[in-house]
Amino acid sequence: MTVRRGARHVAVLGAGLAGLAAATRLRAAGRDVTVFEARQRVGGRVWSQTVDTGHEAPAVIERGAEFVLDGYDSMRRLLALTGLDLIDTGMSYYVRALAETPSITTGDIAEAGGRAAALARALPGTPSTEDVLRRLGEDPALVEALRARVEISTAVEAHRVTAAALHHVASFEPLPSRRVAGGNQRLPDALGARLSGAIRLGEVVRRVSQDERGVVVATESAEALFDAVVVALPLAVVRDPEALELDLPGWKREALGHVVQGQAAKLHLPLRTPPATSALMSVRGRFWNWTALDAAGRVAPVLNGFMGSPSAIEAAALTEGPDAWVRATRLIRPDLDFDPARPATLTVWQTDPFARGAYAAHSPKTPADNAELIERPVGCVHFAGEYADPDCTGLMEGAIRSGERAADRVIGRGRTQAMSHRTDASCIPVEDGVR
Ligand code: FAD
Repeated sequence: MTVRRGARHVAVLGAGLAGLAAATRLRAAGRDVTVFEARQRVGGRVWSQTVDTGHEAPAVIERGAEFVLDGYDSMRRLLALTGLDLIDTGMSYYVRALAETPSITTGDIAEAGGRAAALARALPGTPSTEDVLRRLGEDPALVEALRARVEISTAVEAHRVTAAALHHVASFEPLPSRRVAGGNQRLPDALGARLSGAIRLGEVVRRVSQDERGVVVATESAEALFDAVVVALPLAVVRDPEALELDLPGWKREALGHVVQGQAAKLHLPLRTPPATSALMSVRGRFWNWTALDAAGRVAPVLNGFMGSPSAIEAAALTEGPDAWVRATRLIRPDLDFDPARPATLTVWQTDPFARGAYAAHSPKTPADNAELIERPVGCVHFAGEYADPDCTGLMEGAIRSGERAADRVIGRGRTQAMSHRTDASCIPVEDGVR
């Protein structure tokens, strides 16, 4: 592989939404961009697939990110740029009925969630969700429902995540939940097409190093030199020196170490009879499932499932297969006509070598300045990804925002507090011209 080095040559590592957003902005600012992507597709944890359900039209399932929620402004901007539309799923991500304790209503959970969020605000320091739930003094079944809701959504156990997660739980209004018409994958595909020629698929980056010439990116087959690099790889890859050789100062490794890695899985089960829209949560199994409208405005004949937290995934033995989850699902959905002839589709993100997990969560032990340190560049190496966005951590919107901010820093529009921590004193933002 030979990559010509120009004064404005930037490498982006990873073609998930963070990397694609960064590359799009860098290209718009006139930078010469090369994107290295390990997979044979763009999108990373956005992964739509078409499945045959035996019905007239095949269904598009989301094996990764699904819901486009309120406040996804950056994502909406990219959708407008690429001419893509959102569709309403006809159900609400925020409102889930309880499978095992139907006497507890979604209103009960919303009210208790509001009280828990208020208590979280009143407690000193940064309590965990578990600290707050223990002090709540509500009906134990209701508290357990709140715990399950937080653990599923944040994909970590309640004692490992900050109580700020309860504010999310408290938002039980039936706000619309959307997805991209035809599948979320269409957004990375469209961004990738706009960057045509710049993306190198099937290139696994193994090493990033800096010296007086610039930043060297080494893949499994070759090396290339750049003026700056945006590392838009998953957290678990960035902080594993065996996966990626990257010389990081102690403050950076420490900041990355404070982030909690969530684990989640998805399950898709074809249905013989198209259902009504629905959303039901299993407190016991730490999963929820739903049926939703497709781009044609019909309810797709597929049951979608999401399980969150490492302990839930272990209890359901998902790394061995879907059987336990399928059984638990059938038990709580006797209303649905499952198709025994068509296989379940299980996606367990911790077993994916290029993701190694679902998404990040905030630990209660995280220092206040951690978010800033996470994004702070090291020399000419910049960082982006869902884990790096303080406000929309773990979400598609967070990935896009962080990618765009990393691009701004490369261009020289962003904050430059990193300079005091540079490992290479000769390294200057690309905007400033040649070294
Ligand atoms: P990624 O998408 O992981 O991109 C990183 C890229 O780096 C990947 O393409 C990967 O292949 C590549 N890569 C890895 N290692 C290397 C290497 N060594 N060399 C080169 N390339 C490499 N978000 C929402 O907003 N709504 C949801 O409903 C939602 N649901 C989710 C459900 C699940 C099960 C999961 C797992 C995630 C969900 N998310 C959701 C989160 C969303 O998917 C992520 O926040 C977002 O897609 C992450 O984008 P990213 O660019 O940071 O990382």
